[in-house]
Amino acid sequence: MLTSQLINLSTSNYPQLKITFLGSGTSSGVPMIACDCAVCSSSDKKDKRLRSSIMVESATTRIVVDTTPDFRYQMLREKVKSLHAILFTHPHKDHIAGLDDVRAFNYFGEQAMQLYANQMTIDALMREFAYAFADKKYPGVPNLELNSIDLSPFSIGDIPIIPIQVWHLKMPVYGFRFGNFTYITDANRIEESEKEKIRGSKILVLNALRKEKHISHYTLDEAIELVLELNVPQAYFTHISHQLGKHEDIEKRLPQGIHLAYDGLKIEV
Ligand SMILES: [Zn+2]
Ligand SMILES: [Zn+2]
Repeated sequence: MLTSQLINLSTSNYPQLKITFLGSGTSSGVPMIACDCAVCSSSDKKDKRLRSSIMVESATTRIVVDTTPDFRYQMLREKVKSLHAILFTHPHKDHIAGLDDVRAFNYFGEQAMQLYANQMTIDALMREFAYAFADKKYPGVPNLELNSIDLSPFSIGDIPIIPIQVWHLKMPVYGFRFGNFTYITDANRIEESEKEKIRGSKILVLNALRKEKHISHYTLDEAIELVLELNVPQAYFTHISHQLGKHEDIEKRLPQGIHLAYDGLKIEV
């Protein structure tokens, strides 16, 4: 009784969030260049997947998770005029490559873009975008401010964030819990102590690459099993490969409360 009152109290303190799937595809995107398979040739819009990223918005704060190679188009498609911050999950190219295009937000917002990442990802950003961190910068390079995070909870504006460490083969990747919503991309294993941070979420996003086993990503069955284990009532799968199958066919076979994400999907929590 007391526990449920406490939970209700704490959850009601979270700001209302709108989540937009900017992209839901694996590193090559769907369709994949030069592929003629049934999924890559599909005319269904839900089979067109840009690289995986989400936008998280409260009434006053707007955050994007990862800057994919499709970041520019994702911002144009969603008509985004300003961003308060960018969070990074890990330094793989499909999650950072679009960072240079924050220049537009630097220009119109007249300030540095706030980036939040763990030290491993910060080191990679400084390497991959060295020109933006040089002592003598060429005019017009992205204006970036690095904020190093660890697993301690923090906030951006009114949005509370709890980092969750998950494993992507041997690479530690950050998932993020925003109030009642948890986003995890690029994982194939989560330690029990980190799973505790996910429990109680109302919505969980997980990567589900394909049906066949993969060394660094959950399969469809593994992702379903984890959602059921964590007892989260609603889940969406992302970071999807053309090898998974057509959206329409897979969606029909998922258990209740579990869906495939698709580009442009918006959910509220
Ligand atoms: Zn990825
Ligand atoms: Zn990755």
